[in-house]
Order: sequence, then structure tokens, then C-alpha cells
Amino acid sequence: MIEIKDKKDCCGCTACACSCPKKCIVMESDEEGFIYPVIDLNRCVHCNICEQVCPQDKKNIRDNTIPETVVARDKREKILSIGTSGSIFTAIIECTLAEHGVVYGVIVDKDNIVRHIRVDSKQDDRLSKIPCSKYVKSEIRGIYPQVKSDLQSGKKVCFSGTPCQVAGLKSFLKKEYSNLICVDVICRGNPSPLFWKRFAEYLKKKYNSKIADVRFRNKTYGYHSGTMKVSFENGKIYYGSARTNYYLRAFFADLCSRPSCYKCQFKHIQHISDLTLYDSWHAAELADLQDDDKGYTNIIIQSSKGKKLLDKLKTIEKYPVDTLKAVELDGVMVEKSVNWNKEREDFFNNIEDEDIKRHCSRFMNVSLKDHIIENAKRIYYYKKFKEST
Ligand SMILES: Cc1cc2nc3c(=O)[nH]c(=O)nc-3n(C[C@H](O)[C@H](O)[C@H](O)COP(=O)(O)OP(=O)(O)OC[C@H]3O[C@@H](n4cnc5c(N)ncnc54)[C@H](O)[C@@H]3O)c2cc1C
Repeated sequence: MIEIKDKKDCCGCTACACSCPKKCIVMESDEEGFIYPVIDLNRCVHCNICEQVCPQDKKNIRDNTIPETVVARDKREKILSIGTSGSIFTAIIECTLAEHGVVYGVIVDKDNIVRHIRVDSKQDDRLSKIPCSKYVKSEIRGIYPQVKSDLQSGKKVCFSGTPCQVAGLKSFLKKEYSNLICVDVICRGNPSPLFWKRFAEYLKKKYNSKIADVRFRNKTYGYHSGTMKVSFENGKIYYGSARTNYYLRAFFADLCSRPSCYKCQFKHIQHISDLTLYDSWHAAELADLQDDDKGYTNIIIQSSKGKKLLDKLKTIEKYPVDTLKAVELDGVMVEKSVNWNKEREDFFNNIEDEDIKRHCSRFMNVSLKDHIIENAKRIYYYKKFKEST
């Protein structure tokens, strides 16, 4: 029977709850907003399936060979502008749906909850919300059985998520499916859904409107200065980079991630996914390109299935690069977990009650200078944008 003695040992993938033959495991949120398995001991038959499917402390790599890497991006300017780095996932969605497949990806829903969804039609208006990284642990409860049902019905399935979510899915499925393709993203850490909820509430109050769209890393001010963009139903727009935005700042200070992210079990170059995506900050140096500040993605090709899919994506331009050099320049998070921030525990105390801005300001100092630089950036990019149109 699964027993979480140390929260760092549970990545919250849900494989245990989804696999329990007695359905006696529920994933419940703790006081930080992260889900963990809770077992109804009266119904548990001690079959140990939950422990067997837990992806923690398992091998989770195919072999030790160094996979190939390409630096890549979508050739279409409009698509490139909406993704996080090289906007690779839009072409993957298009290809999967064109083959009558099903896509699983992450959106921010109308209640501002970051969740995995299933999409099987080009007409689904949630599709455009899947690209772009959401720096929040996604709500994934109930998704794995849906993936299994799609696979068993013979549909092509493309599942995207963090490495722990892909490992959890594969462990839950227990066997390889030739109709499954998994795309994961290299992950610094997964912030708390509760912290995100409090931050979204703060923004809604400040702008006196519901949120219409959130981009955690928007390219309005260029790829290299990734900025949160929040559009409100009343037409107002908020922009804030990690210089002044408390949410992004807490994420990059490693104050708000799930405990398991600080001891992540999935830090290898080799993954059991088919493609692994991460930021290519050094695309110019790696692939001898010109850095136009529009973004590129490093793609690690983890399997022949991944290679085949990539070859089908005609809107993607790609350049082979040295995998180890790419990891050395851009991939500190490929192989390493972030360090535990000593203030993390204090950060989560009172997070539900105190005004979130006041709460954050006790841990992070946003100075007048930061605000001046942020505003100057806005003026500079506004001028640059006006000149280019
Ligand atoms: C929580 C998180 C932390 C990350 N940390 C790093 C890092 O430290 N270093 C680094 O180089 N790259 C990191 N990335 C990856 C990076 O932000 C980009 O996703 C990657 O470069 C691919 O960009 P793209 O434009 O090609 O993808 P896009 O076309 O923008 O597609 C993004 C994909 O990410 C998936 N996704 C979005 N949010 C989530 C989520 N919360 N959980 C699971 N899947 C999600 C979507 O379903 C989609 O498939 C992180 C991503 C996430 C979600």
C-alpha cells in the first residue's frame, strides 16, 4: 500500500489512484494546494498495485545512449508569436487532428484553473489555449483512464505534459501502445495551484474584471524577456515580467513548487517520452542562426516514433545540434533539480488568508528601480513595434 512519508516522494501524477482496483484512493489537496493519495483503509485489499505503478524511484529511461537534438521553431510568424519558445506544439496538434487523433494538453480554463484537457476536433475553441507554458501544477485527475480508453479504441493519441506526468501515464498504462506519442517539457518545477488561484483573484480584483486569457510567458517584449500577459473581459491587459510580477518571481525563486520538484526523479537527458522540449536561449550559438528574439525550442528526439512525427511537421524548421552542448548551454534543468528555498515553508504559511501582494512582498523585494526598468521596457518595445508596422 502506498504510504507518503515524505511529500518529496510523491509527484502527484495520479497513477496510483487511477490503478486501484477497489477505487479506494482519492487524490486530495493539502494546505499548499498540491494533491496526494489518500487511501480508504477499510476498503484497501493490500494488493500493492498502487506501489507498483508509482513512477517514483523507477528507471524511467529507455537506455543510456545520447539522443539527437534539433533546434526548431514554427515557420509561421503568428503561430511562433503565441508559443513559449519555438511554438512546436501547434504543429503537433494539427498533425494529430489531421490523422483523426486525440490531443491531451494543458489550458487555463474559464475558472482560471490550469488543467489537462482532451481535444479531438479542430473546431474546439480550447485548442488555441494549449500552446504556451502554464507555470502551475496542472489538474490531471481523471485524465489517464481517458487516454487509455482512446488508445484501446485504436485512436492516435498525443499526450503532452511534464516528465513526471508522462512517466505516471506510461506506468499506469503498463504496456507500450504504438498509437501513443508523448511530448514532455523540461521542467524547473510545478508551482502550487492554490498560489495561482490567489494570484488570479488578486488580478481580477485589481482590474475589476474576469480573466479572459492568460499567457504565463508572452513574447510582446521579445522571447528573451518573457512576460506574463493577462487579458481581461473588460478589455484591459496586464503585462509583468519576473522583475515586477510576484507570481513569476516566486516561481523563479523556487518558493512555490511542489516538494517533489526539489528532488525530481526525472532529471535525465533520456526520457521515456518521444520528444522532449525545452527553451533554446542559445539557438544562435548552437545552430549558427541569427537571434531575432522570436524564440527557438531545443527538441530532444527520444524515440524513432518522435523522429517520425517531427519529420511530418512541414511548418517546423529544424537544425541538428550537439545534444550535450545544448544541455550545457540551455539545459541546467534537464539534469538538475532546483534547490529547496529555505523560506518556502514560511511562504506557504498564511498564503490563503493574507492579501497576496502583501504576502509576497514579505519574501521578494520589488523596488522602485524595478518598476522604472519595467516601464522603460514597455516604452522601448512600444516604439519598436510602431516602427515595424
Ligand atoms: C511548469 C513548466 C516548467 C518549465 N521549466 C522549464 C525550464 O526550467 N527550462 C526550460 O528550458 N524549459 C522549461 N519549460 C518548458 C518551456 O517553458 C517550453 O514549454 C518549451 O520550451 C516548449 O516551448 P514551445 O513553444 O515549443 O511549446 P508550446 O508550443 O508553447 O507548447 C507548450 C506545451 O506545454 C504543455 N504544458 C503547458 N503548461 C503545462 C503544465 N503546467 N504542465 C504540463 N504541460 C504543460 C502544453 O500542453 C503544450 O504541449 C517548462 C514548462 C513548464 C510547463
